[in-house]
Amino acid sequence: MKGAVMTGDRGCEVREFPRPEADRGEVVLRIEATGICGSDLHVYRGDRDMKQIGGHEPAGVVVEVGAGVRRLKPGDRVSVHHHHGCGVCEQCARGETVACRVDHQVYGVGRPGSFAQYMSAGEANCIPLPEPLSFADGACMACVGTTAYAALRRIDARAQETLAVFGLGPVGLSAVLVGKAMGLRVIGMDVIDERMNLALVCGADEVVDGRDEDALEQIIAFSRTPGADWVEGVDCLVETSGATAARELMIPAIRRQGRIAIVGVGGEEAVINPSQIHGKACTIVGSVVFPLGWSWDFVRFLLEAGLSFEPMVTHRFGIDDACQALRVADEGRCGKVLIEPHR
Ligand SMILES: [Zn+2]
Ligand SMILES: [Zn+2]
Repeated sequence: MKGAVMTGDRGCEVREFPRPEADRGEVVLRIEATGICGSDLHVYRGDRDMKQIGGHEPAGVVVEVGAGVRRLKPGDRVSVHHHHGCGVCEQCARGETVACRVDHQVYGVGRPGSFAQYMSAGEANCIPLPEPLSFADGACMACVGTTAYAALRRIDARAQETLAVFGLGPVGLSAVLVGKAMGLRVIGMDVIDERMNLALVCGADEVVDGRDEDALEQIIAFSRTPGADWVEGVDCLVETSGATAARELMIPAIRRQGRIAIVGVGGEEAVINPSQIHGKACTIVGSVVFPLGWSWDFVRFLLEAGLSFEPMVTHRFGIDDACQALRVADEGRCGKVLIEPHR
C-alpha cells in the first residue's frame, strides 16, 4: 500500500509500505478520507523526519479485526479518535486518552497514521460513522470538528447566545458550523479573504477582517441584539488562531461574565491581564482535544442536527498527491483539505 511521510522542513514522500495487520484489540481500516490538520502542519514545517506515515484524522471501513475485538466487524464505517491511551489509567477512565501517561500514542506521531490506504487502530478509538454521515464528515469528526464541539461545550454555549470565532481555519470553520447548529448567532474573524468567505458559506452571520482598525467595534456592534441593546460584547468566544493580535482582543470582545475557550496553539506572549479577567468576571478555559465519550456524543449531535462538514471542504487529493495536499494546506488559502487514498 501507499503512505505519505513528512520528512521535515516541508519535505514529504509517498512510499510503499506493507499493509498493516490487526494486533490484539485492534482493527485494520481501509482509509476512505483523512484530513490535513493544523497540527500536521506544525510537524510539516518542523525539522523532524517523522520516518513513518503521518495523519491523524482517519475515516474508513473495517476490513480486518484482531483477536479480542468485540464490538466491530468487517464492513463497519468508523472515524478514529486520534489519541490512543492505555485504557486502564485514571485519565483513560475519564476518556482523556490525550493525557494518558502510561501508553499515550497519537496516530501519525507515535504510531502509523492515516495518510495511507490502510491503517490499524484500537477498537476503543473507533467511533461509529452511521449514514448519512460521509467519510469527509468522519475525517472532520476525528479531530477538528469534535475539537470545536468540545470548546463550545466547555464554555457552555447555548442557543440564542452570540459567539465570536477567532481564526477561520478548519477548527474555526467547524466552530462556526457547530455554533450555528447549536442555535447561536456567530461572527467570525480572520485575516485571509478566502477563509472569511468560507465562514459565510458555513453559515456565519457576519465576518470581520482582523486587519480592520475597528474590528473590536464591529464585534461589539454584532453582539447587540436588536431591541436588547444593553448587551455589550459576545457571550462566547472561541480562539483558534493562536495569533497574539487576536488573543489581545479576546477579553475586550466578550460581555461581562462571558466565556472564552482557548484552542489555538500560539506564542508565549503574556497578553492576558488578571485584572481584566477580574473586571469582566469572565471564564477562560484551555480546550485541548476532547474525551473519547464526547466523540460518541458528537456523532449523535451531527445526526440530530443534520449537520455535515462538507461545506468547509475545499480540496480533495488522491494518495499519490498527498504532498501536494500538504502544500495547499500549508499555504492557508483553503478550507479543509482531504486526502482520499483510494481515489
Ligand atoms: Zn488534528
Ligand atoms: Zn491511560
